[in-house]
Amino acid sequence: MEIIFAEYSGFCFGVKRAVEMVRSLIREGKKPIFILGNLIHNPTVVEELQKAGVQKISSLDEAENGWLVIRSHGATKETYEKACSRGLTIVDTTCPNVKYAQNIAKQLSEEKFRVMIVGDRGHAEVEGILSYTNGNGAIIQNVEESKSLLEKLSRETKIAVLCQTTIQIEKLNGIVGYLIGKFRQVNVYNTICDVSTNRQASTLKLAREVDLMLVVGGFESANTTRLAEISSGVEVETHHIESSEQINPEWFNKNMKIGLSAGASTPIELMEEVRNQLNNWLLAGKIRLPPE
Ligand code: SF4
Repeated sequence: MEIIFAEYSGFCFGVKRAVEMVRSLIREGKKPIFILGNLIHNPTVVEELQKAGVQKISSLDEAENGWLVIRSHGATKETYEKACSRGLTIVDTTCPNVKYAQNIAKQLSEEKFRVMIVGDRGHAEVEGILSYTNGNGAIIQNVEESKSLLEKLSRETKIAVLCQTTIQIEKLNGIVGYLIGKFRQVNVYNTICDVSTNRQASTLKLAREVDLMLVVGGFESANTTRLAEISSGVEVETHHIESSEQINPEWFNKNMKIGLSAGASTPIELMEEVRNQLNNWLLAGKIRLPPE
């Protein structure tokens, strides 16, 4: 059995930076520390921070006079305003790539563009970017869903397009192609993060070379889920797992090439645990021979 890691895997610099910022707050003894939701979509890291006293909240009404961590996905403008009014000190871990998209959204809306954000409605990053358009923006998940909104706009409307940092370029291309056919001016800003592009490309390359893929990362992580979709798309058996405890010896045989990939919110140690588990099963004779 051969186990191969995707060339680009594990924590991206934005997530690493966010986790480090929170760990250093803990080291400095700051209390209480609040986070709206989970810092990253990774249960192992979330548990570690919660054990160290970081409090997960679902609404700012639950927090007062402490430190509020803004996640690497960023947050809405209103979240910052409300946090200040509740006496919270903001620790802003918004990834610089997401900040860039927020700043462009603000600038373009001030220049009277209608700002279209290609991405998933309800995703914290996308809703955060939208809040900077001051009512001049909209989220486009797909052309079909947005047709009625776009039909109402005149051909002369100045359109600007941004996107969620983790979407696939093909999705952006498809929507931009439609908009160019409809409006005279379409300014496109490719705000896809290189980290996502690299991880997607290296997962795709590996999935084409192996017999089975394991994609490690939180089930709630949009970028990990996309990696699993990309891998399944080339029709290789793919399992999206959160930890080594979720793999099953019956999935494997001794002659298989196994590919391991992980989302941007997955520490490399989790991939190593999966590899160790597979090696332990091999040594213990728990992995079968290939079928005749
Ligand atoms: S995936 Fe890219 S945009 Fe998202 S946190 Fe990581 S570096 Fe930042």
